[in-house]
Amino acid sequence: MLDLATPIEKLPKVGPRNLPRIKKLGIKTIRDLLWHFPTRYEDYSLIRPISSVNRDENVNIQGRVVKIDTQRSWKKRLTITHAIIEDDSAAIRAVWFNRPYIAETLSLDSEVSLAGKVKLDKNGLFLASPSFEKITSRTMDQGLTHTGRLVPVYPETYGITSKYLRFLIRPLLPLVKDIPDPLPAAIAEKYNLPSLGEAIARLHFPTELTDTTQAKKRIAFDELLLFQLKSIISRRQLMKLKAPSITFNSEQIKSLVSSLPFELTDDQRLCSFEILKDIEKSYPMNRLLNGDVGSGKTVVALLAAYQAATQGHQSVFMVPTEILAHQHFKNITTLLKNTSLRIGLLTGSKAKQWPIDAITEEEISKKMMLDKIDHGGVDIVIGTHAVIQKGVQFKNLALVIIDEQHRFGVQQRMALVKQEANKAVPHLLSMTATPIPRTLALTIYGDLDISLIKEKPKNRKKIITKVVNEKEKRQAYQFIDQEINAGRQVFVICPRIELSNPQDAVKTRATQNKMNILWAEVKAVTEEYEKLSKDIFPHRRIVMLHGKMKPAEKEKIMADFKNNLYDIMVATSVVEVGIDIPNASVMFIENAERFGLAQLHQFRGRVGRAEHQSHCLLINGGNQQFENRRLKALENYDDGFKLAEQDLQLRGPGEFVGTKQSGIPDLAMASLTDLDLIKKARLEAKLLLKSDPGLKDYPLLRANLAQFQKIRHFE
Ligand code: ADP
Ligand code: MG
Repeated sequence: MLDLATPIEKLPKVGPRNLPRIKKLGIKTIRDLLWHFPTRYEDYSLIRPISSVNRDENVNIQGRVVKIDTQRSWKKRLTITHAIIEDDSAAIRAVWFNRPYIAETLSLDSEVSLAGKVKLDKNGLFLASPSFEKITSRTMDQGLTHTGRLVPVYPETYGITSKYLRFLIRPLLPLVKDIPDPLPAAIAEKYNLPSLGEAIARLHFPTELTDTTQAKKRIAFDELLLFQLKSIISRRQLMKLKAPSITFNSEQIKSLVSSLPFELTDDQRLCSFEILKDIEKSYPMNRLLNGDVGSGKTVVALLAAYQAATQGHQSVFMVPTEILAHQHFKNITTLLKNTSLRIGLLTGSKAKQWPIDAITEEEISKKMMLDKIDHGGVDIVIGTHAVIQKGVQFKNLALVIIDEQHRFGVQQRMALVKQEANKAVPHLLSMTATPIPRTLALTIYGDLDISLIKEKPKNRKKIITKVVNEKEKRQAYQFIDQEINAGRQVFVICPRIELSNPQDAVKTRATQNKMNILWAEVKAVTEEYEKLSKDIFPHRRIVMLHGKMKPAEKEKIMADFKNNLYDIMVATSVVEVGIDIPNASVMFIENAERFGLAQLHQFRGRVGRAEHQSHCLLINGGNQQFENRRLKALENYDDGFKLAEQDLQLRGPGEFVGTKQSGIPDLAMASLTDLDLIKKARLEAKLLLKSDPGLKDYPLLRANLAQFQKIRHFE
């Protein structure tokens, strides 16, 4: 029987030279090899009579070799192999360069199948470097591999061609049929899905293209089912944990809401209600608050923190940058000014407290803040990663709020909600402005409950968005100048210059990779900064901001920009995350085509934060037609969810999931947009676990799930 775990080097055709190359494709075991699916197929299933072929056609012919020889050409180191192949209808030449061994393989009189392009030269039609395969009793018996059929084309790498991969995979096919199938037969039958072995065989070597449709679904279904099983099980595990139950006191909440300087939107009310109801439970909440930039997530989270504080519990608000921590501290203390809550700020460099009175100061030592956190001297702590450093000990933590959750690693997020000895596990509220399409919410975010804020506060003006091509850029600069004349400020965003070899970047270690990207960003920003300050806006005050700067430096620049000491800020994606500059009215994005729609939408959210009419100008430096069509979506929609759905359709889920690192196989990745299949997998996962909670009757499925749980951490 075929053991899927067998290392690839055990195959007779994998030698020491090819081993490292094939590993580059992520193929280490027989399983990896079989799950390395073709991206497309060349259709050579029709065998053409030689007399019928025409110039520039891709054809497959079969016939007898009537002449073959190899010559060394006058250009040194070039060999040319000529052959003449004859069938019942006619004969044709075939020509190969630098493949002298072909003359030995295709001996005179052998029967051969050739697939390739027909070309014309002064001697007539010929096949240029066709794929070839000898017809033998074995191929008569088992069928052809490289020609005369639908021929699979695989993702390749240096030295590992599709031909070689076919050569490795084809002999495994007879064994594939017996691969043990983890999917309960009843489910496969219900949805008319082929067995696992059948699906794998059909995907590699289909007889008809239509064979591949259900086969793809079958492979994807397995993956989707694991996603669903995992999320149901982790929800169950969560329910077994103990969390502090915070009573929902609607009178208290109402009175705080009525003290706010604005009215909550209906969505804000609804989300607050969902959260307040969740934290009443005696097991931990695991909820994601998803709402567009500026939709007012902070205050929603704050209501829960407030409710916890009134019952003697602490909350922590973790944000990705120091700038944001300070901004939140300021906003939150303003919103809570009518309460008696005690708020702390803790970042890598600073600690602050609120309220302050005649004796105390706003800024205190970090050590004092740590002491307050430990002894319950603060109710809400706002901070950066500093809040998860060693030495931060909460007296009575009940609620963890993580803002811009995608900016944190799993470990960082989990550090706050881990179970400590004899203590309850705090409730977790993650927040993100990255809209999560429904299909992804159901799969990779399936462990979470999701609250959505769809509508924005009514006082917001629509931001006028325009796609601008390189030729219209001058006008755009003039427009910027006018806005500055009117007293406004401007953001210019530039994406990093493409790394010379993105493949290399993927290969290097993650940290190294991050460094490279940062440096590439610095270079892009510096160049743009120089161009703008020397050539285009010499009369304006310009500043730059990038990810390589120290937090304190960035902070100072943001503060100065906020205080209107500069007209233009040239920045990388560091401004993506929630910074508030109410006086900024133009968001100008260079090479906008390099960003996803959802991310562009985030940038756009940086302007339009006050009464001024704001604009977003997207410079299309890429393919005019294709990119214009894509970017125009931003002109038409200001709904982040719609844009995210478009991104998902156009660029695939990689944009959201973080492509390669996720380890999700391409096929399953593609299926993350298939709502219908996702729903089926969800239903079956529920039914399975209901009838057999420990999956005792499905040991294979159970083993696959254990493996899956080990390698997939998303939220
Ligand atoms: P985000 O969802 O992007 O985190 P914030 O919570 O920072 O948004 O809110 C953006 C701004 O809108 C803040 O200044 C906040 O005080 C204000 N805000 C929040 N809710 C409302 C509302 N219902 N009406 C008016 N302004 C609001
Ligand atoms: Mg925010």
